[in-house]
Amino acid sequence: MTAGASAVLLESLLKTLKLPTFLKEYRQAARQCGETNGHYEDFLLRLAEREVAVREQKGIARRLRKADFPAAKELSDFDFSAVPKLNKQRVLDLARGDYLAKHENIVFLGPPGVGKTHLALALGREACRQGRKVQYSTAAGLVTAFAEAREKRELLRLEAKTRRQDLVLVDELGYVPLGQGAAETLFNFFSQCYERISLIVTTNLPFSQWPQVFGDERLTGALLDRLTHRVHIVSIEGESYRLKASLKGREQKGGGAGQG
Ligand code: ADP
Ligand code: MG
Repeated sequence: MTAGASAVLLESLLKTLKLPTFLKEYRQAARQCGETNGHYEDFLLRLAEREVAVREQKGIARRLRKADFPAAKELSDFDFSAVPKLNKQRVLDLARGDYLAKHENIVFLGPPGVGKTHLALALGREACRQGRKVQYSTAAGLVTAFAEAREKRELLRLEAKTRRQDLVLVDELGYVPLGQGAAETLFNFFSQCYERISLIVTTNLPFSQWPQVFGDERLTGALLDRLTHRVHIVSIEGESYRLKASLKGREQKGGGAGQG
C-alpha cells in the first residue's frame, strides 16, 4: 500500500474506533518519536495518554455544562477569613468527595449572604471534576419541575434523570413556605435520593423550624429523617458577605476625598 493510501485507511479506522486525539496527533507524535529514536511503545503510550487526557477534559466540561450551575463559584474564590468560625479544613475535606462515595448529604445552614450557595456550587464543581454527575436546582425550581413533569406526564422521565445523578444541589430550601403538594414532592424526592444520591442542601432554616415551613409535621419528620441520616451539617455564622462588600465599597468611595 502507498503511504497515502495507508494514511487514509488508518484515519478511517481511527474514526471508527472513536479515537479523535489519535487521529489529530499521530503524525506529530510519529515525527517526534522518529526524531528522538523513541520506541514504538513510547509512540503508542504518548497517544493513548493524550486520548485519555482529552477525553477526561471533555467529560469534565460536559458535566459542568449539564449541571446548570447558576454561577461559576470556586473554592479558591472563597474568602475563609470572612467566616472565621467556619472550619476551612472541614470544607476542604468535604471537597475531596468521600461523601459522594458513601451517598452522604451536606447541609449548609446559615443566614442570607454568608456563602452557602457559593460553597455548594464550589463543591458541585469539584464533584464534576471527580467524574460525578451533578444537577443544580433551587428547592422551588425542583418543586416546579416535578409539578410540570406530572402535568405533561413526564414524571417517569424526570425521575429517571434524577436517578442518573450522583449529586443534586437543592438550593434555598425554606426561603418560601411550601404548600402541601410541594412538601410532598420534596418528600418523594428526598426518598428517591436516600442512600443512592448525595444531596447538598442550603437553607436559612434551623431544623426546628422546618415543620412550620413544610406545613405537615409528620411529613417533615420523615423528610428530615432521610436527609439527616447520613449528613454533614455545616453551620455558617456571620454577617452577609454581600452586605459587607457593598458597605466596604461605599466606605471606600466616601473615604476617597477629592474623588468625583
Ligand atoms: P447565601 O447562599 O448564603 O445567601 P451566597 O453564597 O449567595 O450566600 O453569597 C452571596 C455572594 O457573596 C456571592 O456572590 C458569593 O460568591 C459571595 N460570598 C459570600 N461569602 C463569601 C466569601 N466568604 N468569600 C468570597 N465570596 C463570598
Ligand atoms: Mg444562597
